[in-house]
Amino acid sequence: MSHPTDANCIFCKIVAGQIPCFKLLEDEHTIAFMDINPVNPGHALAVAKGHWPTVDVIPPDALGAVARTAQRIARAVMMELRPAGVNLLQANGTGAGQSVPHLHIHIMPRRPNDGLVLNWQPKPGDKAEIEAICKRLKAAL
Ligand code: AMP
Ligand code: ZN
Repeated sequence: MSHPTDANCIFCKIVAGQIPCFKLLEDEHTIAFMDINPVNPGHALAVAKGHWPTVDVIPPDALGAVARTAQRIARAVMMELRPAGVNLLQANGTGAGQSVPHLHIHIMPRRPNDGLVLNWQPKPGDKAEIEAICKRLKAAL
């Protein structure tokens, strides 16, 4: 099946086999490989084969395929590496820390006190503000 590509995109080059990766699996719509800058051992990426930068523009079926691949990888990581926990992370835009604008889900094994700054202390929000934003978002669905 054909999908959009970007000749300057590093993940498109990996999908096309133009640059190497430590490949975990590949299916019709996705590829999964090890992150070259792992936050912890076992850090992997589930990647759409098509070049869609962010969650708002990828077709839902393609996103579903990436989610299925992320689940397969997470299961293997959990069974084989037995980490303390696993975070799945998917960034959209540089403001969210996205460095490669080609949709992917990180599978990040966690170690106790690994210093990875993803977790936050829950603080109660302002109910009126939560409700007002809820209304705006419902209207935008
Ligand atoms: P993000 O910052 O969420 O866009 O994540 C991009 C991830 O891709 C980073 O964790 C990088 O370490 C990783 N990465 C970049 N280039 C490569 C590559 N050639 N092979 C494997 N992982 C890569
Ligand atoms: Zn791409």
